[in-house]
Amino acid sequence: MTPKQGVSGKPPYDDNNIFAKILRGDIPCRKVYEDEFALAFHDINPQAPHHILVIPKGRYVAFADFAATAPEAEITGFIRAIGHVAHMLGFEDTGYRLLANMGPDSHQEVPHLHVHLFAGRPLGPMLV
Ligand code: 5GP
Repeated sequence: MTPKQGVSGKPPYDDNNIFAKILRGDIPCRKVYEDEFALAFHDINPQAPHHILVIPKGRYVAFADFAATAPEAEITGFIRAIGHVAHMLGFEDTGYRLLANMGPDSHQEVPHLHVHLFAGRPLGPMLV
């Protein structure tokens, strides 16, 4: 599936990043959920019993750019998809953690906006 055209171009979007390739179907993923706005799949290197990545289908690198420039339907759709995955996988009873890395200081590895969803064990206090 071809990612949607971005709206601001800032920061520059690399169409060869690994999640763009997953969105296009160029490389496989273990899909959990997909709708018009988002795709959720298992992280290839899980850090918890459940480690899901949720990504918007649009061409966004950074949360600030997404929040400022994405059409409201895309923002709502992405947030709803995250909530839907947590609910669908039954994480609400035991709890879960959402995390998003942005930029070099946070060690963002893949330059396509993504939210990590961790669950399946006590996750301990958040460390920064
Ligand atoms: P970041 O550090 O950018 O927040 O997280 C990127 C995440 O993408 C990492 O947890 C890494 O394991 C995951 N990842 C990197 N390459 C692939 C891949 O090809 N497939 C999947 N499913 N996950 C990947």
